[in-house]
Amino acid sequence: MKITVIGSGYVGLVSGICFAKIGHEVVCVDKNSAKIAQLNSGEIPIYEPNLKELLAEAKEANKISFTTDFTSALKDAKAVFIAVGTPQGEDGSADLSYVLAAAQEIAEIADSPKLIITKSTVPAATGAKIQKLIAELNKQDLLFVASNPEFLREGSAIEDFMNPDRIVIGADNPKSFATLEEIYAYFPKEKLVKTDIVTAELIKYAANSFLAAKISFINEMADLCEKTGGNIRQLSRAIGLDSRIGDKFLKPGPGFGGSCFPKDILAILNIAKEYDVELSLIDSVVKSNKKRQMNMVKKISALLGNNLSGKKIGLLGLAFKGNTDDIRYSPAIFIAKELANNGADIFAHDFEAIKNARSELADFKNIHFISNLYEAADNRDILIIATEWPQYGEIDPSKISTKKIIDLRNILDGEKFRALGFEYFSIGEK
Ligand code: NAD
Repeated sequence: MKITVIGSGYVGLVSGICFAKIGHEVVCVDKNSAKIAQLNSGEIPIYEPNLKELLAEAKEANKISFTTDFTSALKDAKAVFIAVGTPQGEDGSADLSYVLAAAQEIAEIADSPKLIITKSTVPAATGAKIQKLIAELNKQDLLFVASNPEFLREGSAIEDFMNPDRIVIGADNPKSFATLEEIYAYFPKEKLVKTDIVTAELIKYAANSFLAAKISFINEMADLCEKTGGNIRQLSRAIGLDSRIGDKFLKPGPGFGGSCFPKDILAILNIAKEYDVELSLIDSVVKSNKKRQMNMVKKISALLGNNLSGKKIGLLGLAFKGNTDDIRYSPAIFIAKELANNGADIFAHDFEAIKNARSELADFKNIHFISNLYEAADNRDILIIATEWPQYGEIDPSKISTKKIIDLRNILDGEKFRALGFEYFSIGEK
């Protein structure tokens, strides 16, 4: 099938390349001409494992192309995915302007039947807003709307897309469902979860809110372990063995970040407010996570005698999690800013996120970016591990003279470091 994907970011690009992999003819459109030029020359504008190789394969098979031109991109397409950003608006609600601009463009240009499918995470009733826009242009017999929220995770995006737990498709008529089934025919039929459009839109927010709550829960248990002398690694393993709970998302850390959870839980709260529904549990997750990040700064500061002025701090990790270059709402960035604002000198390392961090932190003259891990880590007043890049779990203690380490991801073997004379601090254990 000829498919157009609008927006070539983490979701649009991975989806487009994976649709090509499963045999569709894909055109990716983005407003950002620099991005499109890069993609046309075979480069990937983001860091995502194996994506470059998969792009080369799709290009070789002539299954994918990139353009900034909507008219040519939409020509003969049967399905158009909207995968543009839905960032946090000023009041916390999802900013729908990019989604509606893309929908408007499709509706104005389209002259043959198409199914418009929102892959972006959008609030309940966005489908209805797009339908209204189509009706205003009198194209309701040509254009139909569906919802297909995306659940891929940065860092394992291809694996997640190609082996999904489920594929949610929300539509309001048999023809739209048939088109969606054709698009996803490569996957086992039982993976498809068919819903109405509003439910599909809500499922994504419900899933992210639940996962965010799980992280905040284990972080609060870590606090309790710390004060009572318990051990969060053991606690987490034991509760995770209960199949009703499951072992995922039970690792304590500096609080959740990233481009999805923080904005999506605020967005669902705004949806609830609009419909006069109280979501007090999710409300408390927002508060808990905010406190969490600040508590990490306090913890680090306390280890430095509550005086950060002139302190030299090694910071391992800037991305919001390992295996990505994404720093949006990254707790590591929050911590770096707070420490720098209080007079510390930060020596920051990351495997892929330095470029993004450099531009985000350009105003901070006391944050230095170091591409060599050991150079960033060595000879500091304290070393912080802020992102769970697997390589940080394997750092060689013999190459670090910094004696104080705070491991906000619990990825080091604390006993080993202590035995070698390090003062090792972690989360939720003595
Ligand atoms: P992104 O910021 O990486 O990419 C968005 C892209 O859309 C950009 O390249 C931008 O130039 C382009 N764009 C914006 N307006 C456009 C327009 N009118 N026409 C053409 N291109 C346009 O965003 P992302 O992280 O890929 O997220 C996209 C959506 O998917 C969001 O709603 C997000 O919540 C959701 N989502 C993200 C993830 C994730 O892990 N990043 C996972 C699941 C769902």
